Amino acid sequence: MSDGLQDLYQEVIFDHNRNPRHAGRLEGANRSAQGFNPLCGDKVTLYLHLDDAGVIRDIRFEGSGCAISVASTSLMTDALIGKTVQEAQALFARFHDMMMGADVDEENLGKLQALSGVKEFPSRIKCATLGWHALHAALKEGGQVSTE
Ligand code: ZN
Repeated sequence: MSDGLQDLYQEVIFDHNRNPRHAGRLEGANRSAQGFNPLCGDKVTLYLHLDDAGVIRDIRFEGSGCAISVASTSLMTDALIGKTVQEAQALFARFHDMMMGADVDEENLGKLQALSGVKEFPSRIKCATLGWHALHAALKEGGQVSTE
């Protein structure tokens, strides 16, 4: 990866950590889940408004955690609004594959590519996937999820 691209990715993570998108509670949410990553202490509560057609109309999150967990959840919320449950799960699978170092077409991941460097730091992968695990729980039946 070129240094220029690396810098761009770091800038995206910095920006989303400093100014998280879709932060706060969601009035009228019909799905929610909490995620916790005990290794790092990251916590996130995710709120979704899923319509009758299975489309994610809105999404918000609250939490506290490291820059990677906050930036990843913020980038995730940006990527998910307007997506169907199936599309969201497919995106989660692609993101997870990228984190596991699988050969994925990163073009399909849009801005989520900014987190590709995290795979070089295995202890931080759970930070980057925490919001996604909360999403998975919220789409199933809600509740609490831990990365452990
Ligand atoms: Zn973390």
